[in-house]
Amino acid sequence: MTRLHIDWTACDGRGLCVELLPEVLDRDPWGYPIPHRQGPVEVPDHLTSHAEKATTLCPLLALRLGDEGSRQHVRR
Ligand code: SF4
Repeated sequence: MTRLHIDWTACDGRGLCVELLPEVLDRDPWGYPIPHRQGPVEVPDHLTSHAEKATTLCPLLALRLGDEGSRQHVRR
C-alpha cells in the first residue's frame, strides 16, 4: 500500500488522475480528485504503476507518491 498525496492548491481539477485511478479516486462536484473513502488516499500494490503514471502525467505536478514519513524537511 502506498499513499498518494494530492496538492489541491496546485490541481486544476481536470481529472486525468481520476481517469487513471478510478478504483481509488472520484471527482468532487468541481472536478477535483477525492478518495472514494474519507481520509488519506491509499493505493493498493496492484495499482502502484497506475499511480506512478498519474504522478508522472499530472500536468501541474500536484501528485506525489510515498509515505508521509518519507517527506524530507530542511531545518535551518
Ligand atoms: S492530474 Fe493533477 S491537475 Fe489533473 S486533476 Fe489530477 S491532481 Fe489535479
